[in-house]
Amino acid sequence: TVVVRREMKKSSRWAKAIAIVKEFEEKCETPCEKLRQVADAMAIEMHAGLASEGGSKLKMIISYVDNLPSGNEEGLFYALDLGGTNFRVLRVHLGGREKGVISQEFEEAIPPHLMTRSSHELFDYIAQALAKFVATESEDSRPLPGRKRELGFTFSFPVRQLSVASGTLIKWTKGFSIEDAVGEDVVGELTKALDRVGLDMHVAALVNDTIGTLAGGRFYNPDVIAAVILGTGTNAAYVERAQAIPKWHGPLPKSGEMVINTEWGNFRSSHIPLTEYDHALDAESLNPGEQIFEKTISGMYLGEIVRRVLLRVAEEAAFFGDKVPEKLRVPFILRTPVMSAMHHDTSSDLKIVASKLKDVLEITNTSLKMRKVVVSLCEIVATRGARSSAAGIYGILKKIDRDTLKEDGEAQKSVIALDGGLFEHYTKFRMCMESTLKELVGEKVGKNIVIEHSKDGSGIGAALLAASHSKYLEA
Ligand code: BGC
Ligand code: MG
Repeated sequence: TVVVRREMKKSSRWAKAIAIVKEFEEKCETPCEKLRQVADAMAIEMHAGLASEGGSKLKMIISYVDNLPSGNEEGLFYALDLGGTNFRVLRVHLGGREKGVISQEFEEAIPPHLMTRSSHELFDYIAQALAKFVATESEDSRPLPGRKRELGFTFSFPVRQLSVASGTLIKWTKGFSIEDAVGEDVVGELTKALDRVGLDMHVAALVNDTIGTLAGGRFYNPDVIAAVILGTGTNAAYVERAQAIPKWHGPLPKSGEMVINTEWGNFRSSHIPLTEYDHALDAESLNPGEQIFEKTISGMYLGEIVRRVLLRVAEEAAFFGDKVPEKLRVPFILRTPVMSAMHHDTSSDLKIVASKLKDVLEITNTSLKMRKVVVSLCEIVATRGARSSAAGIYGILKKIDRDTLKEDGEAQKSVIALDGGLFEHYTKFRMCMESTLKELVGEKVGKNIVIEHSKDGSGIGAALLAASHSKYLEA
């Protein structure tokens, strides 16, 4: 009969959908053995990137920061933080050990159209925002006569540093693509824009957000040895022995150390599980073939991967009915915060999943069974990303010999400063990353490895680095 036939059709569609999801799940698996191989490959690439310029996909950028904050820094400094999604301006009063840090700031979303136009427009916008911020300040914030205001600029993209306060943009990542800025000195571009708006400021430090976060973390905790960003993009920086950097030909720093920006987002390895969805996402991205590690981990992409799998089950298994929901075809419409909200839905009928599907994708009338499939897709994608990022951290610990107990068995504390919206807001991601790291390093060593949230550390860190590289103050 018609009813029987309809039921049969329904169940075969369902079986098809489940088969697609199952296959995706299997391809995304990250058993510990695989993660160990990822970590080993990471450590090997780190070596190669330190050996020579262009020696690896990992750029291992020398930051020229060889002296991290001590906590004694004092004075009034500014910071400008240009990330992947937001833009922040900070005024930071550094009060030394006694008074600590007091900061005022404003933050706003970067207008998306500025991400793909011209260098001029982007930097003008930033300079204007900074000028507005400065215009509101009180008398006692004015610089002393004969001095300029000083600024630490956090610029969250790969830059070939020429000094601690200059560097050229290697390429854009995340949602940015402004051709005429590539190869230019970022500080030069900013300084020209500051001139155009008539703001007399001196850029004392140019830092990646990982470097800023490391500096900000170190200010509060001397055991901080690395920083990781899990946000719109992903990256890590760590403290390296200067002597372990063959490509460094400058003088040996007094500290014997140099902070390295790994740019691990561009890491890739045959051990990272990639699926057809990842390949398609990459091919259609602003930067095909690049930032492969980032594209499986970071906030810009997780929701988009889920969307792609959902679209496939909609098209091939009529998962949402005979018609494919139109909204599901829109790239990046399913943002990671929405994915996270669905993934964390604890209601028995998954009503948050239902409402997100309806509000964001205009998909109505989903059954509980269907919503469960959506949640499991979120779980698969987040788990792969979180576990891969843990493997990356494990790789860094291996590189600097902090993955085992020292010979005397003594505990050596390693603190890793973490920041970024994904880490901060996607609880299941964070918990999975942390437990995977423990799993990888083992219980004994795991006790000495601490993940610390360094909230907005990158802005304060940039101000601290501006202080220690000030033209006016002795370090
Ligand atoms: C950039 C890094 C940055 C990271 C986190 C990546 O896309 O290449 O420089 O540190 O995002 O913001
Ligand atoms: Mg940021």
